[in-house]
Amino acid sequence: MKPVNIKEIQDKSRTLGVRLFDPARPGDPYTAVVESTTNPAFNQVVTLRFSKNGDIRARCTCTWARFGGVACAHVLAALNRLAERKGRTLSFWLTPEDAGRQKHRLLRLVGDDGYIFVTSRREGHPAPAVMKSAHQE
Ligand SMILES: [Zn+2]
Repeated sequence: MKPVNIKEIQDKSRTLGVRLFDPARPGDPYTAVVESTTNPAFNQVVTLRFSKNGDIRARCTCTWARFGGVACAHVLAALNRLAERKGRTLSFWLTPEDAGRQKHRLLRLVGDDGYIFVTSRREGHPAPAVMKSAHQE
């Protein structure tokens, strides 16, 4: 399942607290503990695996992910935190056409029924017009 409202989820993901843990051994996934979107007393656990071809495989303990959903706010928050370390900001898109218009490096979040497209840009570069409000951090 892909989310219909990816931009809303992207906005929400930027408000969540994230603790990121590096892989214990080479080849292990990154792990992140991310605040629940619905209950501040809860956390969700996210794991992220990266392939050399730009594919990202993510798991999350939330209900959406448990039922086969891709790109929940927790996964986006964990990816953003990782990108932040490299001085980059991510944007998420439902179609390659939308992502392609951004003219930035393209990564793909792998779901059961296709991809969510991820673009990465250097922080401080002007955001595309549609994204402006999401980048007022
Ligand atoms: Zn989740």
